[in-house]
Order: sequence, then structure tokens, then C-alpha cells
Amino acid sequence: MLKIGITGNIGSGKTTISKVFELLGVPVFYADDEAKKVMVTDTLLVEAVKSAFGSEAYFTDGGLNRKYIAGKVFNEPAELSKLNAIVHPAVFRAFDAWAALHPAAPYLIKEAALLFESGSYQLCHRTIAVTAPHEQRLQRVIKRDNISYAEAESRNARQWPEEDKVKLAAFTIHNNESQLIIPQLIQLHQTFLTLAASHDY
Ligand code: ATP
Repeated sequence: MLKIGITGNIGSGKTTISKVFELLGVPVFYADDEAKKVMVTDTLLVEAVKSAFGSEAYFTDGGLNRKYIAGKVFNEPAELSKLNAIVHPAVFRAFDAWAALHPAAPYLIKEAALLFESGSYQLCHRTIAVTAPHEQRLQRVIKRDNISYAEAESRNARQWPEEDKVKLAAFTIHNNESQLIIPQLIQLHQTFLTLAASHDY
């Protein structure tokens, strides 16, 4: 099964673009949403988080104590890496289980903010970087999340520079409000359908 990874920095529009692929009939796995779900549903992960960060990481009803975990990893790169090393494999497992539910789809898309940072791009046959100018991206996120410019900048600074992702990705979608989006998507869709039919990927 052909697997396509799609990513982009904050406000690039990767989720919006992924929704359009869904309209074209392509199943999309939203890795960041799944990461939140597996934090409470994947029993292997729950046990690993408790043993790494303490049982206070979860409430007695099984809910995740986000504040506690955030406090543990905030400004602590080693602790954040430890958490990621537990969460990422659980998301990979969820993706495999989800992919098995779509045997008839010509190709599947995995949407992930940290596709490259997490290494999960290695499990995709092709990757797409969604790009937009820095200011446009920040303004979109400020408007969407009602946050300050400084907060948007700080979130952006926690991700790899956009140009690094463009270099690593096989394809780029320019979501810059001056180039048309739909023709770019249709062209990629055709490329992936052809690639899937060739079985040579
Ligand atoms: P994040 O990683 O921060 O979740 P994202 O890359 O998934 O961001 P989206 O949520 O898809 O980005 O888009 C960010 C905001 O910008 C949304 O409110 C979306 O509606 C808007 N947006 C996306 N693309 C465009 C566009 N081409 N023109 C105008 N607004 C856009």
C-alpha cells in the first residue's frame, strides 16, 4: 500500500490540504490527533509513561494528567525525547492498525507536524512539505488559536526550519494564498494514483 506523508510547519495549512485529499477519497491519518488518543488507549504506552514519569502522570480514572506531563518535559529536552520515544512507536502502531482498515484505497496519507523530526517519514514511500511564507503562517495561527505573535513565534521555533523540510520532501505544495491550491493537489493525486498502479515505489 502506497503511503504518503504530509507535513509543514505551524500554519502552513497541512490539515486544510489533507481535508481536500479526503474529499478526493483518500483516507488520511492525523498523527497528532492519534498521539493524543494513544496517550490513554494504548496500554503499553500508558505503562511506559507511568514507569518513566511516575504514576501521577494519570488520574485514577485513567485520564492523562497533561499539566503534570507538560511540567515534566517543558524546557527539558532530555525528558521530552524520553516521552517522544514512548509516544512515537505507539502512533506508528496505531497507523499500521488504521492502514489495515483501508485495503482498497489506492494510497493513504499520514499527516504529521513532526513527520521529519520524529523519523516517521522513513515509513512513508513519498513525502509532501506544505509551505507558506513565515508571516502568513504566523498570522493564520494567531487568528485560528487566538494567541500572541510571540507565542506563535515560539511554537514555530520548536519545529525544524521550513526549508529543511522542503529539501527532504519529495513534493512541495505552495499554500501561499497567491498560487492556486487545487491544481497542485490534483496533479499530485494523479501522480500518486499512477505510482500506486505501478506498484513500483
Ligand atoms: P498547525 O500545525 O498549527 O495545526 P496546519 O499546518 O495544520 O497548522 P491549518 O490548521 O490547516 O494549518 O491552517 C491554519 C489556519 O490557516 C487555519 O485556520 C486555516 O483555515 C487557514 N488557512 C490554511 N490555508 C489557507 C489559505 N490558503 N488561505 C487562507 N487561510 C488558510
